[in-house]
Amino acid sequence: MFDMAKEIEQEYARRRERCAAEEARREAEAFAACPELKALIESRLDLVLGGVAQMLQGAGSRQDLLGQMAEKNRQIAERLGALGHPADWLDPIYECPDCRDTGYTGEPLKRECACRQAIKARLKAREIGLTDGEASFERFDEKVFPNEPRVENGIATSQRKQMIIIRRLLEDWCARYPEVRRRNLLLRGKSGLGKTYLLSCVARRLSERGVSCLLVSAFQLVEAARRAIFQASPEDWNTLLDVPVLLLDDLGTEPVYQNITLEYLYQLIDTRQRAGLATFYSTNFTEEELRTHYNERIASRLLDVRSVDVIPFEGVDVRQCRLEV
Ligand SMILES: [Zn+2]
Repeated sequence: MFDMAKEIEQEYARRRERCAAEEARREAEAFAACPELKALIESRLDLVLGGVAQMLQGAGSRQDLLGQMAEKNRQIAERLGALGHPADWLDPIYECPDCRDTGYTGEPLKRECACRQAIKARLKAREIGLTDGEASFERFDEKVFPNEPRVENGIATSQRKQMIIIRRLLEDWCARYPEVRRRNLLLRGKSGLGKTYLLSCVARRLSERGVSCLLVSAFQLVEAARRAIFQASPEDWNTLLDVPVLLLDDLGTEPVYQNITLEYLYQLIDTRQRAGLATFYSTNFTEEELRTHYNERIASRLLDVRSVDVIPFEGVDVRQCRLEV
């Protein structure tokens, strides 16, 4: 599904290409403005090569060579300065000077450069399906949810209080996994109430803990099923059946293909529940709508109180709220 080492190498190849293109652009611009520069840089190169050869033959001193180099460098810097550029304008360019875009620093013992660790973290996040690279429990801000009081089952609460409780519940689930009360959770409520964001927080926290998990939309799930059927490539589908924690977002928005959507969705729910694997579902549907949109077989599994914790999200769409300060 995903070759991390190859992806990283491709990323560095792209970086080196970008740098080479910028070097070429600078050279072309500088040489056009000052043709003498081209000759100076070529003669500096000749000097280095010739000087090294001479030294190998025992002729010429290192001191002479360094002196001549310094003079060339001075002339080059002078021409570049006249063009309004710094002295190192035509030197090799690196996006990461620490590792010179190789991903490793240190000689002879190589250490992984910080830039390579950052690429790895970003790819890892993409691998588990995190599209919102920022979403995390740490950055979760309950202040985006309105705090107007309302009464629910005789208890005074607010959308914000409710979100704080749900967040705690999910964080607690992540901390306890795999020793959790219920391995299946259904996040139910209208869109814009923060379900997808919280699923992303769960995926991030679990992967930080080293738990293998995957966040996919119901649309992606059905696409994986179709690839398994029509392109004889069941790898992605099998991963969805096997991954220890699956976070299935936006259930109900997937296209309904005859003999595919309902059949494969049921297979997925059934296989995972039997294997004792953990699955999060999020949906905009009410329980009643789940029963009418899907069949009884699927709905009864999703709403089975013995194995599924239903977490209701109530309130107003936060994307339409003004941020309170
Ligand atoms: Zn680096």
